[in-house]
Amino acid sequence: MSDLCLPRYLTLLLMLVMMVPSAYAQRYQFTPSDRVDSLIAEMTLEEKVGQMTQVTLTAIAADGPRESGRVNLDPDKLREAILTYHVGSLFNVIDEALSLDGWRNLISEIQDVATRESRLGIPIIYGVDAVHGHNYLREGTIFPHNHGLAATFNRNLARRAGEVTGDEVLAAGTPWNFAPVLDVGRSAPWPRFYETFGEDVYVTSEMGREVIVGMQRSGRVAATMKHYLGYSAPDVPRDRAPANLTERQIREHFLPPFQKAIDAGAMTIMVNSGDIDAEPVHASRYWLTDVLRDELGFEGVIVSDWEDVIFLHTRHKIAPTLKDAVRMSVEAGLDMSMTPSDYDFAVYLAELVREGIIPESRIDESVRRILKLKEDLGLFDNAYPDTAAPELVATEASREAARLAARESITLLSNDGVLPLDRGARVLVTGPAASSLSALAGGWSYIWQGHDDALFPQGTPTFIDAVRTMASDVTYVAGADFSEEIDIDAAARAAADVDVAVIAVGESGYAEWMGDIRDLTLPDAQLRLIEAVQATGTPTVIVLAQGRPRIIHPYADQANAVVMAYWPGTEGAHAIADVLYGEYSPSGKLPFTYPRHPNALDTYDYKFNQDFGSPSYERTTGLLDPQYEFGHGLSYTTFAYDQLLVPSSVPAGGAFEVAVRVTNTGDRPGREAVLVFSRQHYASLVPYMQRLRAFDKIELQPGESTVVRFQLSTDDLRFATRDGRMVLEPGMFDIMVGGLTATFEVVE
Ligand code: BGC
Repeated sequence: MSDLCLPRYLTLLLMLVMMVPSAYAQRYQFTPSDRVDSLIAEMTLEEKVGQMTQVTLTAIAADGPRESGRVNLDPDKLREAILTYHVGSLFNVIDEALSLDGWRNLISEIQDVATRESRLGIPIIYGVDAVHGHNYLREGTIFPHNHGLAATFNRNLARRAGEVTGDEVLAAGTPWNFAPVLDVGRSAPWPRFYETFGEDVYVTSEMGREVIVGMQRSGRVAATMKHYLGYSAPDVPRDRAPANLTERQIREHFLPPFQKAIDAGAMTIMVNSGDIDAEPVHASRYWLTDVLRDELGFEGVIVSDWEDVIFLHTRHKIAPTLKDAVRMSVEAGLDMSMTPSDYDFAVYLAELVREGIIPESRIDESVRRILKLKEDLGLFDNAYPDTAAPELVATEASREAARLAARESITLLSNDGVLPLDRGARVLVTGPAASSLSALAGGWSYIWQGHDDALFPQGTPTFIDAVRTMASDVTYVAGADFSEEIDIDAAARAAADVDVAVIAVGESGYAEWMGDIRDLTLPDAQLRLIEAVQATGTPTVIVLAQGRPRIIHPYADQANAVVMAYWPGTEGAHAIADVLYGEYSPSGKLPFTYPRHPNALDTYDYKFNQDFGSPSYERTTGLLDPQYEFGHGLSYTTFAYDQLLVPSSVPAGGAFEVAVRVTNTGDRPGREAVLVFSRQHYASLVPYMQRLRAFDKIELQPGESTVVRFQLSTDDLRFATRDGRMVLEPGMFDIMVGGLTATFEVVE
């Protein structure tokens, strides 16, 4: 401190103090508001139930052809929604992304009617799905999808992704963002797997919290935790299929990210379209009120997912009529229904109140929360897009953030030394992901399904474009489409003439049920392409651009290198090329288990008795045998771990430190995600083989060592009981880090 002069020291101190509240935002609390109370006192029943109704843009749009990037509203439909039905919220796009101008005009037109023509002048809150950057803004910055963002194991990048997304939704005038997904990706074939932060509850909780805190940092954007609860582990791996989860599984694997997000200030939550053990969550008073409100303490707005109140009647078949469905959802605790195309919800809800079935005080509770949300976001002061604000869309800095995230997500799964490539090497690039933008950005990119390359900003590089900026002797042959063969023989002939063949395979965009598949194996046409190219004997590098781990056995083992790119976004092509050519030493690690076989979809935290016949913690039967383990990822340098230190005994309820020394033993600088796992030797319920308890990302120069320290508590070692309590059972535990194991005892 001695060499700091006083004013500078004070400034630093002040900066530190200012950083504390923003480092982790506070829980979002409902505070009484005179404005809201006086509005509620003045509102008619129709105006109240209208606030609880959310309709999609199509309901107010003019028919007929549209200029790309803009939506013309139908003035009558707009007034019907706002003046006749008093809707509180609108959302979505029609087919494709709007330009910044398109958004600003649209929102201004809507707010003109809401704030100037409606009796009480209540602004509309407009919602969008900006799930990896503002993917519904033409100029928006597109980040990797969450499964790639998680692979960075870098909280700062997740925070930055949230910040940029928050800035861009605000600039467009769409301050309610239906993101992030906090469902834990426990089912690899599930078509929304890529929207998750992978299979681990702790990674999901940590990365989800960072995204939310970043997104909401202006105080004028509301993030949405979704989809509460149990969406991502359906019994059959399809979208919106039933989940037969127990209370224990929910508490262990699915609830914690929501708790952490609530504690970090998330303002809204969206409900899971499915059911948990035959109870649709939209009609569950237990999950929506007893747990979410009373136990987790959530005080913000609960919105339904698309059409889900109607689905209680038409799909779930628990409500004999639509009106019953409305009653059930509101009695369960829903605040707003994404209807999304008609006003039946509002009409039936008003009837239910008039008939004395639902008390008006129950309606007031929801309306109060909705109006308070609008007030807290500043919409009563200015409902219009803030055009005077400094331009925050697609800046150099935001693109750089997306590129850093993409680069750090890329995961080197195997490498016999063929990578990094020499810029002078003769290269064949083949495979459907080489020339497809959709295969880089995936679903929810400029259009719901993300499958239309024509909608991407002009000049967005494909993977082959990026490779061409790195090397001059590059041949490109398509080889195969995502599911059809094109010219596999030509690709094989070209492969025979080069030093290395890069085969870019995977998936083009899909979203929700449109991405349901019957087979997780990579489509045959792509496998045939890999096989034919490998048969030439030329070294092969497989690049995987995909929303879930498509099975590539046995070709992965025969490749000289395999690179997982996830869906890295519009900056992704250069990010992959940077890794291939050694401009960047890869540092991503898999946030999920990459399966080798279709019937071995075990997660990393399986149970000892799941690998029958194994006498130790080492797998022996080969039945699980994943292609690549959770947390696996190579680099162009090497890291050695030693000196793992854990106290030999820790009192129950106490804190303890895990320390480990990590050394960069290679000859390049590199980043390393340090993952800390624990395992309990014996417990009253079958313990997990391993559970991730902490992680950090470090950077080391060649030869440099550092001691990485993690502060844990015995609370981190608790598990859920069958009745849903989190308990700690004292006894022997292992801590595993980087191949080292230390054993310690938790004592009463
Ligand atoms: C999806 C949600 C999304 C909503 C609004 C639904 O079909 O399940 O994730 O936020 O549509 O677009």
